[in-house]
Order: sequence, then C-alpha cells, then structure tokens
Amino acid sequence: MIPPSTRLAKIAPSATVAMTQRARALARDGRDIISLSAGEPDFFTPDFVKGAAIAAINNDQTKYTNIDGIAALKEAICEKFLRDNGLRYLPEQISVAPGGKAIIFNALIASLNPGDEVIIPAPYWVSYPDIVRFAGATPVIVPTCEDDNFLLQPNALEKSITPNTRWLILNSPNNPTGSVYSRAALAALADILVEHPGIAVLCDYIYEHIVYDDTQSCTLAEVAPTLFERILTMNGASKAYSMTGWRIGYAGGPASLISSMAKIMSQSTGNPCTISQWATIAALRGDQGFLESRRNSFQERRDFVVRRINQINGLTCKTPKGAFYVYVSCKQHMGKTTASGVTITSDENFVEALLEDQGVAVVHGGAFGLTPYFRISYAACLETLERACKRIEKFCNAIA
Ligand code: PLP
Repeated sequence: MIPPSTRLAKIAPSATVAMTQRARALARDGRDIISLSAGEPDFFTPDFVKGAAIAAINNDQTKYTNIDGIAALKEAICEKFLRDNGLRYLPEQISVAPGGKAIIFNALIASLNPGDEVIIPAPYWVSYPDIVRFAGATPVIVPTCEDDNFLLQPNALEKSITPNTRWLILNSPNNPTGSVYSRAALAALADILVEHPGIAVLCDYIYEHIVYDDTQSCTLAEVAPTLFERILTMNGASKAYSMTGWRIGYAGGPASLISSMAKIMSQSTGNPCTISQWATIAALRGDQGFLESRRNSFQERRDFVVRRINQINGLTCKTPKGAFYVYVSCKQHMGKTTASGVTITSDENFVEALLEDQGVAVVHGGAFGLTPYFRISYAACLETLERACKRIEKFCNAIA
C-alpha cells in the first residue's frame, strides 16, 4: 500500500466527474440511465478543426513544443481576445495549458501561499475550492442568492475581503447557474476591487459564447481597464468548439504570472498536446458562424427544460442567461419521502434517489456550495431531455 500525501487528503474528487462516471458504470451494467451530469456539449468538434488536426499530424507537427504554447497559437489567442473582448494582450501575456482546469490549477499553485485566502462566490464550479486547498490556501466561500440571480453582490464582496485575500474568482456565464454578470454588475465589483490593490481576479469565461436572448458576456478586464494588470482572463477550446477531449485552455494575464505558470508546466504536464494546439488555431481563426446555430439549439433546450421543470411538483428554477445548465431548487421536497421509502434530507440524497428510482443522473447542489439544489446539464438532444423530464416528474409526483 502506498499511502496518500497529506496534501491529497485536503481535496475531494470532482463531484461532476464522479457522478458522470457512476452513470457510465450503471449503464455498462445494463441499467437504462439518462445522464445529465456532464459539463460537455453533445455536439461534435467542427470538421474544419478536425481537418487542421489531421493536417498537423501529416505535417509531422507531433513533437514537443514551447512549454506554454506555440507562437502561432499565442498569436491567434491575442487576435481572439482583441476581436471578441476588445482586450490587447501580447504573446508573452498568454498561457496555453492542457485544458482550462490546468490553467486555473497553474495560476493558483503559482501564486498562493499557506494563509492566503481566495474569495469564491457560491454556487461555484466544483474544482475552484479544491484547487485552492491543494495550493495550501483557504477558500472563502461567499454565498449568493437566487433572488440576486446567484450573482455576487458588491457589499458581500466587500465584507469578505481581509488582509489575506489574494484572489477573487469570477465565472460568467456561470457553471452551475447559467448566470451572467452584466457590464454594470462587473463595474460595481470593480469599484470595490480598485480599493484593494493586493487582490487579483481570475475571470473564467469558458462559456463566453453560450449566451441567450439579448445577453452579452463581457469581461472584467474590458469593463475595468484599470484592473487589467491584476486580471487573469481565462478561456478554452472545450465548450465553444466542443473540444473537451482535446485539452486546450488558455489565458491572458500579467507576464510574470504567465511565466510562473510555464515553470509549473515545465515540471508537470509539459506542453499541451501539439496536434490540439494546431487544431485550436484553426478553431479560433476559422469561420465562427456555427457558434450561432449551436447557441440556438442550446436556447431551445434551455427553454424546454425551464418550462418543464417549473411544471413539476416541488421543483422551481430561474431562466439562465448562459452556459448549458439549470440550477433547480428542490427545497420543497426536503423532509418528504420518495416512493422507495427514502426520506429526503439533502439535495445529495434527492439526486441519489432519483438515480436509483428513475435512472436520471444530475449533480447535487452541495457539490457547488449552495443547497438544496441540483444541476441539470441540458447539453443533450430534446428527445433525451423530454424523457429525462418525464422521469423526474414521475419521481417527484411520487414524493409525499
Ligand atoms: N471552468 C468552468 C466553469 C468549467 O465548467 C470547466 C469545465 O467543466 C472548466 C473551467 C474546465 O474546462 P476544461 O478543463 O475542459 O477546458
């Protein structure tokens, strides 16, 4: 037996990954499972991106590269930031890593010390607090509320700042709520951050292209240029281009942090996959027209799921403005009993019972830091969503 490190004992496995793997295992055992737990678009990687990867292989672009990204990709990312976000980065201010998760990991590991604090509004993406703990620092969870559309309020930010605060993590569009910070909301947070020059901001815009109705996703660095030097603007190929398995994340930020992040990669992952880097150049520079039709499909699914969930006994949810998740309140079912005799005491045993009784996999709100809720990922076809909602309805109708 090889004992785990004390550092490892501080972190938990990702709840979304755990639920998705569980659903896969049950399906392999022959159970009829509908999995709405993964944060993964169901669309395929566009053909022109696949073509660029095949060309890279045929052109023998299969060797080690510059540790934090090839020059051509860094240039394409600078162009993307300028085109989509009005942000002017130089190549030395760009980091490319094996996924958005690796970018966040590298940035936090490179900059945090024991005793440092990181403000994380809840609900949050499951990995933020664990990465902070892994870095030896302390996550300071600041709950938001549904009436504020799960957005961090300026007074809550102000109250949570201490002399030890090193980072604030903002995620918009948000996983798991789909909330999007408006320009005005970001400006109000910026007004507070201006007064605290020691705080850096990690802005996770990985769902940037998935926004609905007349919503605009804008970046903090664009809204508050005075903070530019202490913002890490993070993004990636996974969600926009359906490239989750290609493992490319990137960020723009202060050159000193970017080179610290490269140092970590030089002693851990090495460079991100060479072929994926060439494919990402094609994704970023190619015709972006397909994003619109994918967004429209997501919007149709969002509208369907929100309407159906709000018809179901004891469940309610807001209409999210972006990403591909709805965060559903199951508060009304607390203390009641399922058809199979389980007393519902938390969102965790609600989702367990739903999986057991009806074979629908979703992720409990506790994993995202705000209960009692659960997250549905609607990155699935309408027919699957329809079947899933029917099963959730049957499950809830039997709760008494
Ligand atoms: N940030 C958020 C909010 C996410 O939801 C995810 C993935 O689910 C990531 C970052 C990381 O994405 P990846 O590592 O696949 O690029």
